[in-house]
Amino acid sequence: SGGYKFVVVANRLAVDAAEDGGWKRSPGGLVTAVHPIVRRLGGAWVGWTGGPGEAPEPFEFDGMRLHPVGLSEDEVDRYYEGQSNATVWPLFHDAVEQPVHHREWREAYETVNRRFADATAAVAAEGATVWVHDYQLMLVPGMLREQRPDLRIGFFLHIPFPPVELFMQLPRRADILRGLLGADLVGFQRPLAAQNFLQLSRILLGLEPKEESVEFGGRTVVARAFPISIDVDEIEREAADPEVQAQARHLRQELGDRRLLLGVDRLDYTKGIEQRLKAYRELLAEGTVSNDDVVLVQVATPSRMRVQQYQDLRERVEREVGRINGEFGEVGRAPVHYLFQSRSRAELVAMYLAADVMVVTPLRDGMNLVAKEYVAARVDDDGTMVLSEFTGAAAELDASFLVNPHDVEDLKRGLCAALAATPEDRSTRMRAMRATVKDHTVDRWAREFLDALGGAS
Ligand code: UDP
Repeated sequence: SGGYKFVVVANRLAVDAAEDGGWKRSPGGLVTAVHPIVRRLGGAWVGWTGGPGEAPEPFEFDGMRLHPVGLSEDEVDRYYEGQSNATVWPLFHDAVEQPVHHREWREAYETVNRRFADATAAVAAEGATVWVHDYQLMLVPGMLREQRPDLRIGFFLHIPFPPVELFMQLPRRADILRGLLGADLVGFQRPLAAQNFLQLSRILLGLEPKEESVEFGGRTVVARAFPISIDVDEIEREAADPEVQAQARHLRQELGDRRLLLGVDRLDYTKGIEQRLKAYRELLAEGTVSNDDVVLVQVATPSRMRVQQYQDLRERVEREVGRINGEFGEVGRAPVHYLFQSRSRAELVAMYLAADVMVVTPLRDGMNLVAKEYVAARVDDDGTMVLSEFTGAAAELDASFLVNPHDVEDLKRGLCAALAATPEDRSTRMRAMRATVKDHTVDRWAREFLDALGGAS
């Protein structure tokens, strides 16, 4: 029989619908990382197109075979916006927002996971390597293993894996855990997440985990950290582009002679945008910083806007931005420039280059690629970063100004320290961070995961 020796399974396909009715490669980090490998191995990618309706026929795209999975409108609501983004997402991010539980969501999650598993089983060759991604598809490894014990199955979780106490809140929690244990290798962003997972296997299923693995169903399941990264060369190329540099200069001119604090986030309650604004407001109110001297540019990219919690967050953030600008602004000079917009990679790199302080304050984040992109973009070895300890990136980028975003005083301290850093201090810190980021590219991440999984080469 035919089939593919290597199959990637992710909620989304590697493409987005283009204006001309065709497809374009989607810009995300996962696609950047995995596309070259899929192409090299002549592999297939199983995923959803991003819109409701029947799945299109499989098609070729840039050396990959894409196998669309269709979702009905109800399934988009329940599996994707519901169970994935209003139940699992908040719960796995320390429940910083209350997770919502509905049985119909859970059922749709199972139905859709089954569809992904079936589609994958149908295209994978005998003994193939399958790499399943992220929190939308946690049942897939187990479902796939039942049908196809011949496969080598890897799973990577891009978001945090919560402490046992929190995971235990999830209805039908043992099914999710058994789903993940269907994989041969379960990868996480941080060692602590792998530890949470192994401990959970003991508490929930009575297994006896070792340091980095656990026996389940007569197999060994390895659980380890593989911190994801970015395409450093691509970011550096953008940063060296004269047009991007001109854009950075233009931005600085527009803002006048003020130091630029920059935030770039999806508008998500995990990102700590409200905490950041609160700290900034207090600094302005106390006169520690002044609107003449400092400006905050906050890109808040629209995200999951059909989910209630995201609409509520938008209201709160926009009210707070309005208040700060109302209280501390002048005509032609606002303390916060808020952009509820999506920006291209090149535009972001121009902003990174223009920034004095990158402000990255998530309450919890699996990795935070923006932090790594900022460092990669600073080919001038300048610029500082305030970075939340609760991001995966903090483990590698500890030459930033690390803060606890739950503690507004600590946030303020971090912001002030970053603003006050001397040129020597800035360059020492940035060089240290750049060395780390340049050494751990996304390509290396993918290779290390697949090496540990074995099979694909
Ligand atoms: N990004 C973008 N345009 C935007 C905002 C973000 O292209 O307007 C990109 C950004 O460059 C980064 C990714 O989206 O590569 C965000 O990844 P991150 O890990 O920081 O956060 P996530 O959104 O995955 O939670």
